Amino acid sequence: MATGGSTAFRFDNTFVRDLPGLCEPWKAAVFPAAHLTVLNESLARELGVDPDALRAGSVVESLVGHPAPAGAEPVAQVYSGHQFGNFNPRLGDGRALLLGEIIDIEGRRRDLHLKGSGRTPFARGGDGKAALGPMLREYVIGEAMHGLGIPTTRALAVIATGESVQRETPLPGAVLARVAASHVRVGTFEYAARSGDVDLLRRLADYVIQRHYPDALDADNAYLALYAGAVDRQAALVARWMLVGFVHGVMNTDNMTLSGESIDFGPCAFMDGFNPETVFSSIDHGGRYAYGNQPAVAQWNLARLGETLLPLIGESPEDAAEAATDVLRSFRDRYDTHHRAGLRRRLGLDAATGVRLVEADALGAELLTVFESQHLDLNGTFRSLAGSLRDGVCPVLPAPWLERWHNCVLADGRDVQRVSACLDAVNPLYVPRNHEVDAALTAAVAGDLAPFSLLVEAVSRPYEERPGLERFAQPASPEFTSSFRTYCGT
Ligand code: AMP
Ligand code: MG
Repeated sequence: MATGGSTAFRFDNTFVRDLPGLCEPWKAAVFPAAHLTVLNESLARELGVDPDALRAGSVVESLVGHPAPAGAEPVAQVYSGHQFGNFNPRLGDGRALLLGEIIDIEGRRRDLHLKGSGRTPFARGGDGKAALGPMLREYVIGEAMHGLGIPTTRALAVIATGESVQRETPLPGAVLARVAASHVRVGTFEYAARSGDVDLLRRLADYVIQRHYPDALDADNAYLALYAGAVDRQAALVARWMLVGFVHGVMNTDNMTLSGESIDFGPCAFMDGFNPETVFSSIDHGGRYAYGNQPAVAQWNLARLGETLLPLIGESPEDAAEAATDVLRSFRDRYDTHHRAGLRRRLGLDAATGVRLVEADALGAELLTVFESQHLDLNGTFRSLAGSLRDGVCPVLPAPWLERWHNCVLADGRDVQRVSACLDAVNPLYVPRNHEVDAALTAAVAGDLAPFSLLVEAVSRPYEERPGLERFAQPASPEFTSSFRTYCGT
């Protein structure tokens, strides 16, 4: 098979060029014994780089070594952030570096970024390092998100550093090479706004408009249009998370991108039994980032973004605040619209109109109450819908609901096989089940990458049933789930 692509990344570094006030040139730590653990070949190809050359050569190792790859201009980005509601004026990349930007084979500008590459001026008390398990976790969750069609940052590679990092116990160290539409966060705007330098804030907003919201330039007020765009993308993103049972776990403003991609998969996890109060993170004692709170938290974060934009939105603070508040208030409607559309799709009713559409939305709303009252496995239950049409088996849902749904989805003599194939194409069979992720990471850290590779293979094509992957379709046991906790910043 022809792989195409070159053997080196071609960088073009607009962030460093346009926004020098928002980053510090810096170098990665030296890792003499670094070696490649996992390479994302299809993503390498997307970036126009030959994966075989990356594997064979020292290119990936050179990502974390010296000198930096040709054309890269490594910087630590600076940002503020509201963490669990508390403002921290100076966070920034404590253990990460932006290497530069690459134009991919479809002409999209993508950041190439390292995580775990050593202490930076923003490291505070941290060691600047990352452990192998959490970086592999970030890899598999990103691939799962991508497979599900949810906007996400993705891992290009995980590189073992050959040294151990001290956590509760010594753990093998690693660096993650991450690809993102950009790393501009709500926290980046908070930093620029707080600096009091309106010119810096304007340059940041102009940069983000050009890179992510070019249509805003056609609007009467480009900055208000930027805000509306960001609000809509977050509404769409969180609706997608909610529809697959994803709990991000640490939705601080420094972990929310302006591009609308999911980012920073620390304590995140997919929920099995449906329960809005689900929290996996070991530090989220108050449940601020519980599954059911995610839309409200996104809106709270977007309020913080809106505040930063006020000086750009209007000359008069009152008028600017009023316009921004209107946009912020639209979040709930936008979220509901995206969520309803997603539910219709999962029920095979996205083309419904008229009374059938009303029935589709009623069925969706009722289904959610069934999920909640019976703590049903969200993804497993949706996936079983097609089988209930094909073979008449669907053990978990109430018979009256099923009968109504069958009548609705098979209205006008629709073909059962075609409808069920459409359902399987939108209802994933394989999501990263917590017990499988845990087992795969434990094996990988002990040196056996086979379970990890199999898990990635399953979740990368989540809709397509394949032999040998049956166990990835099963939820964890209630015993596992009740004691399951996730950890961040490791
Ligand atoms: P996170 O929770 O991973 O999004 O990180 C929050 C902040 O803590 C960011 O500024 C990170 O760069 C920083 N951070 C997390 N872990 C470390 C570490 N081991 N060393 C230095 N900084 C870190
Ligand atoms: Mg972060």
